[in-house]
Amino acid sequence: MRVISSPNKIRQALIKYKLKGKTIGFVPTMGALHQGHLSLIHQAVRDNDITVISIFVNPKQFGPKEDLNKYPRPEEKDLALCEKAGVDFVFHPKSKDMYPDNFTTYVSVEGLSQVLCGKSRPGHFAGVATVVTKLFNIIQPDIAYFGQKDAQQSIIIKKMVRDLNIPLKIKVLPTIREKDGLAMSSRNSYLNIAERKKARVLSQSLNLARILIQNGARDADRIINRMKALIKKKAAKIDYVELVDPDTLQPLKKISKDYFIVLAVKIGNTRLIDNFQGRCLN
Ligand code: AMP
Repeated sequence: MRVISSPNKIRQALIKYKLKGKTIGFVPTMGALHQGHLSLIHQAVRDNDITVISIFVNPKQFGPKEDLNKYPRPEEKDLALCEKAGVDFVFHPKSKDMYPDNFTTYVSVEGLSQVLCGKSRPGHFAGVATVVTKLFNIIQPDIAYFGQKDAQQSIIIKKMVRDLNIPLKIKVLPTIREKDGLAMSSRNSYLNIAERKKARVLSQSLNLARILIQNGARDADRIINRMKALIKKKAAKIDYVELVDPDTLQPLKKISKDYFIVLAVKIGNTRLIDNFQGRCLN
């Protein structure tokens, strides 16, 4: 496994394989790797000749009051996990490698980036779309892997790839969860013991919605209100709980064939997200 920080150097290293017709799988991450990241890496290793992972805590996707400085960076452990998982290249740039002085170009996926997490984190998805575009240009993968855990991000990246004719395939893989249902996230490490217990309420509220829908509930407000009541009982602060169309991310009044339940909740100072994508056949 090679660890490379320079965009030009990794591009040069990968060109050799591309010229031989080898396929390249790519998993962009911010590090602090857990089983969620590893499920993407394992799939990339299975699907491709060469697997590249990037580890870059992208400053452009953090707001001024967000956790950029305290975001976990367990570098040695991450590299050991990559090596064990069969990764061929780790792209681990410094901020100045990605954003040289006087960097002024941004990618913005209009509409989808302004709702849900985009409302509470202005500029976040422009930061994500910009860094992912740069990473795609640098790595030039055949397939890039994303997690359903960050569903809005995956939808935005797919739209961007389509709108800008970026020549690669996007694969979105299921959310990996802890035994009690909490979606794995690098930010779970911020939770103390009491908060960790409270954090179960995210997946519990999604399960509640699923049961209500299975039992015939179709009215979005009713389902959302039941979820909110459960979350508030656990003293968690709600950012949003919404039932939306999975393509447009616009609110649904009634459950339709394909629906998407998304939520962001603050447990203490830690903002956590989760979602469930469902299909209703009647
Ligand atoms: P991050 O390091 O948080 O930027 O995440 C890198 C990639 O891993 C993104 O595509 C995430 O959606 C994905 N990911 C993060 N957590 C999980 C999880 N629990 N299950 C599946 N994928 C995940």
